[in-house]
Amino acid sequence: MRVYLDHNATTPVAKEVLDAMLPYYQERFGNASSTHLEGQEARHAVENARQQLADALSCEPDEIVFTSGGTESDNLALLGLARSYAQPGDRILISAIEHPAVRECGRFLGEMGYRVETIPVDHQGQVDIAQLMNQLDDEVRIIAVMAANNETGVIQPVEDIGGICEERGIFFHIDAVQAMGKIPVDPRRWKCHTLAISGHKIYGPKGTGALYVRKGTQLVPLQFGGTHERGRRPGTENVPGIVGLGKAVERISLMGPEANVRIQKLRDYLENAIREVFPDVIIHGIHAPRVPNTSLMSFPGMDGETLMMQLDLEGFAVSTGSACASGRIEPSHVLEAMGVPPEIARGTIRVSLGMSNTREDIERFVETIARLISKTPTHR
Ligand code: PLP
Repeated sequence: MRVYLDHNATTPVAKEVLDAMLPYYQERFGNASSTHLEGQEARHAVENARQQLADALSCEPDEIVFTSGGTESDNLALLGLARSYAQPGDRILISAIEHPAVRECGRFLGEMGYRVETIPVDHQGQVDIAQLMNQLDDEVRIIAVMAANNETGVIQPVEDIGGICEERGIFFHIDAVQAMGKIPVDPRRWKCHTLAISGHKIYGPKGTGALYVRKGTQLVPLQFGGTHERGRRPGTENVPGIVGLGKAVERISLMGPEANVRIQKLRDYLENAIREVFPDVIIHGIHAPRVPNTSLMSFPGMDGETLMMQLDLEGFAVSTGSACASGRIEPSHVLEAMGVPPEIARGTIRVSLGMSNTREDIERFVETIARLISKTPTHR
């Protein structure tokens, strides 16, 4: 039996979610923009999902825009805010640990003449508020900081940053893709203008997502066409996907904290067991608040890529702390930003737990990794 420990990459679609989606492929296939009965059924389903998201995020339904996923939500937010509220030459601050969906928007905006700058993080991988304060002036128009990091799981001080942005009239975007379902996500309390979520990280379908857009906030859209999503995201709605996203969001909000408490206990058990076997393991972000399911571990002297592949052959799916850029394995920008030396970053794997994992899975995982590492020459 394989053990899947890569839930930050993606999650399986929950049965209730799939069941809710299926009728919208065939029996209720209508176009939500049509006025006949078939169309009205589809429209009703889309608006029901919008309400499910609004309930989960404690916002108004018309503050929700459906998109094709986290990447599109981040792009719509950053490019939309920049084109609506900033001029080339204005400053945009983006944390050093953002997902490429945000980082690459920053790079593009830089090419367009905006002054895009990085907000550093400390050794635990948390944005340093004091540093951020030093970077602020009247020319800063937009700030983007994620709620929780996909590699380390470290939770960022978004509520404090939201307060700072509010005081200074700065637009604030939060990527909450990895926070949703793991910690309470509250755009109003966090005082952001836009907030991105993704369906496939929360047991919903791939290719679905949403952007919270605070009432009154204008966004130049990424694409042009009809009046769907009130012109903010033209294109015929992915009705089954939207229904699935709505159900997934409702499901995780109704679940209560117990599921995450259980997952956190498993994660803590894993980290303690690994530390017993390998006292020199480095667990990144362990002294900062983290989402309950994520553990980013470096094994000095090991190669993370090799370890990941060996684990795969043994039946365990994890990921590494590196990114494959132009055919070369590069240490992750997150570890680099945290000041982790490349030789340590090389030996990193990420374990991200999910709802189906059991204590037995983790016991077997620890036994396997202990066996694999003891076979490695430097660890014999
Ligand atoms: N933002 C974060 C923090 C992520 O982890 C991911 C996915 O890995 C994304 C954005 C992109 O989301 P999607 O895969 O839905 O495009």
